[in-house]
Amino acid sequence: MLYESLLDFWRVRLSFLPWNEIDTVLLDMDGTLLDLHYDNVFWMNTLPEKLAARSGQTLAQSKAALFARYEKVMGTIDWYCLDYWAEQLDIDIMAAKREDQHLIRMRDDTIPFLDALNVSGREVVLVTNAHPEALALKLENTELGNHISQMISTHEFGVPKEYQSLWQQLHQRVSFNPSRTLFVDDNLPILNAAQTFGIKHLLSIINPDSQKEDRTITDFPATADYRDFTNEILATPVQKGKQ
Ligand SMILES: [Mg+2]
Repeated sequence: MLYESLLDFWRVRLSFLPWNEIDTVLLDMDGTLLDLHYDNVFWMNTLPEKLAARSGQTLAQSKAALFARYEKVMGTIDWYCLDYWAEQLDIDIMAAKREDQHLIRMRDDTIPFLDALNVSGREVVLVTNAHPEALALKLENTELGNHISQMISTHEFGVPKEYQSLWQQLHQRVSFNPSRTLFVDDNLPILNAAQTFGIKHLLSIINPDSQKEDRTITDFPATADYRDFTNEILATPVQKGKQ
């Protein structure tokens, strides 16, 4: 491969993955395949604004109260549960989420990445902490469903990806060899949980929200563009039956 600049060279080096050792790819959704901008706008702006308008609080007061609630449950299944928030906040949360749905979009590099994975014969599974209704809304507003056949919301297991019991249950449900599996997620505590379970290959995202600055990630290989991988993915197809 020819590099256009030294920076380019380091970008590809830092995201190095041994694709010939990877048969299965488990993928997060929000911030990994879809732009996290939608979720950030909804939870950090739209929702506190709605609650402020209803209660007569200032936006600052509404945000302080709401973010304190977030902090209490962050990383648990409740944090990802729309039924929990509908009840806690006494609001039609799906109706509110639909108001921002024009912001739901795939990353530009998602389809080339998924297509390369599929063509190369790799097993591709979406594993999201998104609530089933949130997942359905994302599928309604993107082409994601045309490019991934297996999709799992962790709500069916009652625990999110932060918990070892999720990985144990997922391993029962989807047969994958952890030492030949790549897991891609923008959430670092979740990547740590997957690593603890024994998933050997891990990849993080430098730019989960298109409207925010790139992040510096040092604990895991990280990418800002999946298209850096497509040639190598296609050059190392999985030999069916030899896994
Ligand atoms: Mg994510």
